[in-house]
Amino acid sequence: MNHYAPVGYVCPLCRIVAGAERDAVVYRDEVVVAALSLHQKANNLGSLLVFPSEHIENLYTAPSEKLNSMFSVSRRLALALKHSLGAEGVTLLQNNEPAGGQDVWHIHAHVIPRYRDDQYFSRRGQIASIDDRERIAKKVRSALEAV
Ligand SMILES: [Zn+2]
Repeated sequence: MNHYAPVGYVCPLCRIVAGAERDAVVYRDEVVVAALSLHQKANNLGSLLVFPSEHIENLYTAPSEKLNSMFSVSRRLALALKHSLGAEGVTLLQNNEPAGGQDVWHIHAHVIPRYRDDQYFSRRGQIASIDDRERIAKKVRSALEAV
């Protein structure tokens, strides 16, 4: 099995698990964490990442119970995006290996708020400011309490 993380890789998702970017975190339990993505697309603000707190590179070696948690937390996140941001739909994406579009070497799923004609797949993302991420995270966190 190929591993793509370079020697000395500083994993951005492990940093979040360890307490970085606390204000961008929307959900945390013993198994998984969810936070606002660093990259956001203008028509889809509020895109989230959900990932296990344990460092696992990709889908191929992830234990089922962690995948199950990622999926059931994704369900709650999807509802929270609908309630807090008025998403008309939600897309889940999970990429593996460079050919599969993976560029962070810690398994994660994207939970993306979608709107009619939002052109999600043809638009480029930009790094969102921490202020924007915190502002949106706050809305999603309060909606999560209700789902
Ligand atoms: Zn990691």
